[in-house]
Amino acid sequence: TGDTAVVDTPEVAPIEEALALKGWKLTHILNTHHHWDHTGGNEELKKRHGCKIVGPKNERERIPGIDVAVGENDVIEVGSFAATVFDTPGHTSGHVVYHFESERKVFVGDTLFAMGCGRLFEGDAPTMWNSVRKIMAMPGDTEVFCAHEYTQANAKFALSVEPDNDELVSRVAEVNAAREAGVPTVPTTVAKELATNPFCRPHSAGLRATIGMSADADDAAVFAETRRRKDNF
Ligand code: ZN
Repeated sequence: TGDTAVVDTPEVAPIEEALALKGWKLTHILNTHHHWDHTGGNEELKKRHGCKIVGPKNERERIPGIDVAVGENDVIEVGSFAATVFDTPGHTSGHVVYHFESERKVFVGDTLFAMGCGRLFEGDAPTMWNSVRKIMAMPGDTEVFCAHEYTQANAKFALSVEPDNDELVSRVAEVNAAREAGVPTVPTTVAKELATNPFCRPHSAGLRATIGMSADADDAAVFAETRRRKDNF
């Protein structure tokens, strides 16, 4: 259809390079949250391309150049593709993710990372756990596009809290080899995160044992303790 979207705008130059390489014209910006490293290119790109800026309703005042404010269950169309919006507060108060269900892709900003999750700047742990669960409820083969390559650092923490998780151990070896070769580790998948990301595994007996949480503690409390330990790791 000629429509082209970018999810978040950390920098203008690499986005322009990618557009030029394909000969595409930018028609949409989909913002996940207000942080500067996600919206800093909004105004310049809008000036150059006249693109429409879509962003979270609950951060409307903090998204430069916003045209369309969206929240839970809204649907945004880009060409022939449709994304359902989920509210995922925690990292910021109005953070959203964009789920292209038919394409099995979700753009999660700073809510979830490979083997990690976003820091809790504007929400508490139960709120963030509720947000993470929305992503984990998507089909296992859904590709998860997180916004930062934090995988290797996250892997060190994950191993420290779940050293006996065999899938985690082998994933960390794969990640280290990929990074050594200069290969990105994003996207990941819902299935991989369910198997290896401690923030998606509060039910894990091994995790609970390592961080001193009892078998009858609720998942949100285990998630909170995991996040607290990562903040101090
Ligand atoms: Zn952020």
